[in-house]
Amino acid sequence: MKKFMKGLLATTMVFAMMTSLVGCGGSEEAPAEEAAGTENTLVMATNAAFPPYEYYEGEEIVGIDAEIAKAIADKLGMDFAIEDMEFDAIIPAVTSGKVSMGMAGMTVTEERMQSVDFSDSYAKGVQVVIVKEDSAITSVDDLFAEGASHMIGVQTGTTGDLYTTWDLEDAGLAKVERFNKGADAVLALTQDKVDCVVIDNEPAKEFVAANEGLKILETAYAEEDYAICFAKDSELTAQVNGALQELIADGTVQAIIDKYISAE
Ligand code: GLN
Repeated sequence: MKKFMKGLLATTMVFAMMTSLVGCGGSEEAPAEEAAGTENTLVMATNAAFPPYEYYEGEEIVGIDAEIAKAIADKLGMDFAIEDMEFDAIIPAVTSGKVSMGMAGMTVTEERMQSVDFSDSYAKGVQVVIVKEDSAITSVDDLFAEGASHMIGVQTGTTGDLYTTWDLEDAGLAKVERFNKGADAVLALTQDKVDCVVIDNEPAKEFVAANEGLKILETAYAEEDYAICFAKDSELTAQVNGALQELIADGTVQAIIDKYISAE
């Protein structure tokens, strides 16, 4: 099944990255984003509307990604800063060297690997489908069934957007409505402007908890690996990845995840 294959593909690629990053000493050319590095500040681009990975608590951006990135900066003896932007602006910010790296619950995909390099994966994601409790949509397959005309809400440029768009094209259907924030897509669902929202499972849980009358379908859409992205051939990739590997090995990453996601 193609939806499942996409998840598998992403997983395989992360393993490939893991092997290729080991012992990688950096490139000869000075990458554009080294500007951020020379100031000794690790600048993370994110979209702080993706709880529990990144979201605002008052004026401050908190969450799993923010804490892991801060721990990486500490380990590397660097200062740390976060730049909040739309999700689809993150990769351009990374490739143009405006920021040191992108960390945003970002799924490793083949398409993104054409323009950025990824770290090891530090978390798993699942694309799920949120519907109203009384929805006629009861499974992922309902979305792509012959003659289906459901309006699917997604966040622009996310894998939820990319996968549903491809699968709808394959099925000869064209019904994706794009929103700048996952929360806006969920709001549209509560107002019956879309019939469902395809989004990552952890933010989905938070959005469903915050809105009456919504539920998450039991069938998952795609399984994914989250990783940090860098400008291609950046020296920072090996440094940050080395720090990340240590933080995974000593349990810091899991402790941060456990702090934000309670085990069911
Ligand atoms: N994991 C999804 C992606 O990488 C969504 C990430 C997000 O919305 N922050 O496309």
